Amino acid sequence: MDYYSRQISRLIEELSSLPGIGSKSAQRLAFHILNMPTDHVQKLSSTILEARQKVRYCQSCFTLTDSELCPICSNTDRDHKTIMVVEDTRDLAAYEKTNKYEGVYHVLHGAISPMLGIGPGDIKLKELMQRLQAEVEEVIIATNSSLEGETTAMYISKLIKPTGIKVSRIASGVPVGGDLEYIDEMTLLRALEGRTEL
Ligand code: ZN
Repeated sequence: MDYYSRQISRLIEELSSLPGIGSKSAQRLAFHILNMPTDHVQKLSSTILEARQKVRYCQSCFTLTDSELCPICSNTDRDHKTIMVVEDTRDLAAYEKTNKYEGVYHVLHGAISPMLGIGPGDIKLKELMQRLQAEVEEVIIATNSSLEGETTAMYISKLIKPTGIKVSRIASGVPVGGDLEYIDEMTLLRALEGRTEL
């Protein structure tokens, strides 16, 4: 890329390190940014930096938020005795979009994958078990229907069973290997309503 000046090449390089951005998109974005008014660029970069600095894990459900407790955990109208376990914050957002789930969540930030060397200690599982010390009636496991998601669901259900708390798994209306965030709201609702006790 030596036909671009050093600064332009650096910008393209940085942008293409982002997921889903190939070198063509990175070049398009770079030239778009270079043509933007300076104050827009300033706003964009400070928004990115501020988000990175201020966003952290919710102390209860571990979703990404900018306060100690996320808006869902701090909402007293939600049913705090029903916890839906999801793999990441985007899955939580997908269920929130349905507007039908009234419980709270627990975000694992990953799934168990022996192949990738990700064990139970690498996701927020211990934190989930700690939450179950409080009064909880049901844990709904809504991990993806991929091999990792199923492995994680099995593992969690085995952990929770001895506590006597009801454990259920969302129905497999969700396509195998499907990422929850790409599935339409109707399918998500059907999966939630058709959940089975483990
Ligand atoms: Zn929370």
